[in-house]
Amino acid sequence: MHTGWVVLVHNNVIEAAGSMTFKLPSNTRIIELKGCTVLPGLIEGHSHLFLHPYNEVSWNDQVLRESRAERTARAVVHADSTLLAGFTTVRDLGTEGAMYDDVGLKTAIEKGVVPGPRMIVATRAIVAKGAYGPKYDNPDLDLPQGAAEVGNVNELEDEVRTQISKGADVVKIYADYRVGRNGQAAPTFTADELKAAVAIAKSMGRIVAIHSSTAEGMRRGIEAGVTTIEHGDGGTEEIFRMMKERGIALCPTLAAGDAVSQYKGWRKGIDPEPNSVSNKRKSFAAALKSGVTICMGGDVGVYSHGDNAREMEMMVDYGMKPIEVLKSATSVNADVFGYGDQIGRIKKALLADIIAVNGDPSTTIKDIRKVVFVMKDGKIYRQ
Ligand SMILES: [Zn+2]
Repeated sequence: MHTGWVVLVHNNVIEAAGSMTFKLPSNTRIIELKGCTVLPGLIEGHSHLFLHPYNEVSWNDQVLRESRAERTARAVVHADSTLLAGFTTVRDLGTEGAMYDDVGLKTAIEKGVVPGPRMIVATRAIVAKGAYGPKYDNPDLDLPQGAAEVGNVNELEDEVRTQISKGADVVKIYADYRVGRNGQAAPTFTADELKAAVAIAKSMGRIVAIHSSTAEGMRRGIEAGVTTIEHGDGGTEEIFRMMKERGIALCPTLAAGDAVSQYKGWRKGIDPEPNSVSNKRKSFAAALKSGVTICMGGDVGVYSHGDNAREMEMMVDYGMKPIEVLKSATSVNADVFGYGDQIGRIKKALLADIIAVNGDPSTTIKDIRKVVFVMKDGKIYRQ
């Protein structure tokens, strides 16, 4: 943290940043942000702009009963609230049944048709055949699914190529899901299958993010060389240490599980914490102890878009230092996702994604909500 810094922006690029030792061009417009903390635009590491909170409409009903047009209209609104909350980039990890509409939304934002964050998109995401939802108790039904299904390694390879050709910046695969005999999570792909997907994605310059909540699913992902593991609820200290050794990052999505528990009736702050929540606390503590790289991504969409700061507050609540959480949401996310040469820092030659908040979130994380200024790509969206 520095005091009295000046950031010089020209068009959409940061031209200089530091103490006031450089000369300002004569026509420079000066924006004073006294008493504020200036930060790189925040990066949401795990969003679903095509979903809205499950306590409004269940996930099944969003996928089955909301038209693509309705879902897109909602996504446009979600993109706007995300940007105004200071999140100038999102990594959107699957449209959940809305096909490639994330690519269209990303294009519309880039063309300036609607306001929104930069989007790193996954398109449909990939699941093992029969593993995902919507699903009801009737095996005679074949319902439209929330992601692209593959039945074998050839189909998996084919789907990776298809999603990349349709615009995927990142490949999202569900390494495990609730397919166990009692509905518990179990791995759905072999390590070799994941390895094949990673090889194709990597050769085309895309990273692989896996959904995994079991230790075995995570272990297979590590063996396959994925880049990020989403959720990681079943992660042990040993698993997290392996991730650290291989340079694989954890995106813990603390806020999603917390929100779902509340939708199921848990009165946070009144009732004792349900097992899923206290287990998540423990596994997050183990992750911190292991030194694994931690991304900031909350699975926002399960809860309201624009409330992205919720994950940052929970990371602090679960034991991470505020300054480390700020790094996760900026430089760490940018580096892990492969965008460190464009975003994530206030540094000469990077894109002018800059926000300011009242107060000092490096000591009081709640201050990250007090957004007074948002610039994305050199354009001011909030002041
Ligand atoms: Zn998700």
